[in-house]
Amino acid sequence: MIKETINKLHRELPATVKLVAVSKFHPFEAIQEAYEAGQRAFGESRPQELLAKVKLLEEARAARGEADYMSDVEWHFIGHLQTNKLKMVLPYVSLVQSVDSVRLLEAIDRWGAANGKVINVLLECHVAAEESKQGFSEQELTELLSSDVHYANVRICGIMGMATFTDDENVIRADFQRLLDRQKTLREWVGKRPDVASDCTELSMGMSDDYPIAAAMGSTIVRIGSMIFGERK
Ligand SMILES: *Cc1c(COP(=O)(O)O)cnc(C)c1O
Repeated sequence: MIKETINKLHRELPATVKLVAVSKFHPFEAIQEAYEAGQRAFGESRPQELLAKVKLLEEARAARGEADYMSDVEWHFIGHLQTNKLKMVLPYVSLVQSVDSVRLLEAIDRWGAANGKVINVLLECHVAAEESKQGFSEQELTELLSSDVHYANVRICGIMGMATFTDDENVIRADFQRLLDRQKTLREWVGKRPDVASDCTELSMGMSDDYPIAAAMGSTIVRIGSMIFGERK
């Protein structure tokens, strides 16, 4: 089942859209199965769980005696990240998609400076109706970008967000349009802020229930979990 769904998604998604398989709450074996179907990017939302899977991968590699077994796996962090958990996450991930506050951005920048790294991030923007969802408001995004404070050890690569949890496609489309608008705002800062990547093109939107709409509207990353791995317990 995992393999069939991965194959179907790889066939169906436009070449410009990257699939991140959201493996949170599912065992490492499920990741291996998806990997065998050609999947390389995986999304995790809890530091402890990400770290446990990184270690399981290292153990599987050692047990096989193949130095490059699954060495091209790309981890994406997609959950709320507390500043005291950075060291569990930042050494292992290629992209932190869920930077949802200036405080977190500052902390990541400090960690990058202390460890001689530049961290790729997306700014998570809040557009959904639910108040509980994390992320920058339109005003907070503008304030961050127009401030004179720059983050030398962070590379802002784009925007991430979630639509309202609803069956109403019009509401979902309106939310995704707002994310497109945020991305446009961000791209106005290319060349004006050193921490905004020159190819600041990523737009991470679309999950199991709404990814076809997102992909059709210009998403560059979709984050798909339950459709691939089944329900989370
Ligand atoms: C869990 C999660 C997903 C995947 O959701 P599904 O509906 O299972 O595809 C995508 N993005 C974020 C931020 C998540 O936390």
